Amino acid sequence: MLILVTGGTGYIGSHTCVELLNSGYDVVILDNLVNSERSVVDRIAQITGRRPLFYHADATDASAVDVIFSAHPIEGVIHFAGLKAVGESVEKPLTYYRNNLLSTMVVLEKCIKYGVRRFVFSSSATVYGENEVPFVETMELRPRANPYGETKAMCEKILSDAAARHPEMSVALLRYFNPVGAHESGLIGEKPRGVPNNLMPYITQVAQGILPELRVFGADYPTPDGTGIRDYIHVMDLASGHLAALEKMGPGVHIFNLGTGRGTSVLELITTFEQVNKVQIPYRIVGRRPGDVAACWADVGKAQRELGWRATRGIEEMCRDSWRFQQLSG
Ligand code: NAD
Ligand code: UDP
Repeated sequence: MLILVTGGTGYIGSHTCVELLNSGYDVVILDNLVNSERSVVDRIAQITGRRPLFYHADATDASAVDVIFSAHPIEGVIHFAGLKAVGESVEKPLTYYRNNLLSTMVVLEKCIKYGVRRFVFSSSATVYGENEVPFVETMELRPRANPYGETKAMCEKILSDAAARHPEMSVALLRYFNPVGAHESGLIGEKPRGVPNNLMPYITQVAQGILPELRVFGADYPTPDGTGIRDYIHVMDLASGHLAALEKMGPGVHIFNLGTGRGTSVLELITTFEQVNKVQIPYRIVGRRPGDVAACWADVGKAQRELGWRATRGIEEMCRDSWRFQQLSG
C-alpha cells in the first residue's frame, strides 16, 4: 500500500515515514523543503533500509501535485505540509492562510479526483483554545489568538464539509498535543531554524551551550508550581498514532486527540531533563508569553477505544531522545 506523505521530511513527517516503511508501506514524500532538508530522506533510508520516493514540490501547486497522483497508485495521504510557527503567523497571516489552507485544498481535490479515500490531517490541540482540561474531542472549539491556530480550525472545517459531500472518504483529524523527542537512533529529530520557539528544542540548545539560559514564561499560572502545563508526547508514539488512524478508520470524519493524557509543567520538564541527562539547565522566570494557556492536556479515551492506540513512552524517554538528537546533530 502506497502512502503519500506531504511534509515528509519535516519533524513529525519523517518519524511517521519511518513507522510506515517499517510496517511494510511504500512511501512517496512531497516537500518543498521550506523547513527541512533533503538529507532527511537519506536518514530515513538509513534507519529503515528502505528508501522513500521524494518529490521536491509545493503542495499548493496543483499541477505539481497532480503529476504525483497521476504517476503513482496512491491509496492514502497523510498531510503534514504546513507552516507552524505561531509568532510568525501573527507577522505573516496571509502567508499562513495561503500555505496551510491552499495546500490542504489542493491535496484534497487530488484525492477526490484520483479516488484516494484515506486522508489523515495534522491538526493541533491549539484548536481548543481556552477550555476546561482535559480537552475532549466533542468540546466546542474556542477562538485562537493567532492565525496559525485558525488555519487548523479552518482546515478541519474544509475537510469535514468535503467529506460530507464524499461519504466514501475516510478523514482523520488528528489533534496533536506537544510532540517532543526523536527517533532512538538520533538520526532524525526536530531541527528548528533560528532560535527555537518551543520549549524542548530550547532546552536542548541551552544544554549544549548554544543558548545561555532558558526563560520560563510565567510562574504565576493557577497550576501547582505556577508554570504552564502541557501534554508532551514522544514523536514516535505520535507516528504510530497515524498508522492506527490510517488502518482503523472507516468512512466519515474522525477526530482524535493524540497525547498521553498526562500534564507536565515547565519546571517538571526542566528537572526531568537535568536528571535523565545529567546536565544543568540554567533558567530565569520571566513574564507570561502572550496567547499561552495555563494548562493543556488530552482526554485520550477515544483514541484508545476506537484506534486501540495509546502513547507508551514517558517524559524520561522524551528528554533522553531529544538530547541524543541534539548532541548528534550539533
Ligand atoms: P515541520 O516544519 O518540521 O514539517 C512540515 C514540513 O512541511 C516541512 O518539511 C516543510 O518544508 C513542509 N512544507 C511546508 N509547507 C509546504 C508546502 N506548501 N508544500 C510542501 N511542503 C511544505 O513541522 P512538524 O512539527 O513536523 O509539523 C507537521 C504538521 O503538524 C504541521 O502541519 C504542523 O502544523 C502540525 N502540528 C505540529 C505540532 C508541533 O508541535 N510540532 C503540533 C500540532 C500540529
Ligand atoms: N515555554 C517557556 N519558555 C520557552 C518556550 C516555552 O517557558 O522558551 C513554556 C510555554 O510558556 C508553555 C510550555 O513551555 O507553557 C510549552 O511551550 P511550547 O511553545 O513548547 O508549546 P505550546 O505553548 O505551543 O503548547
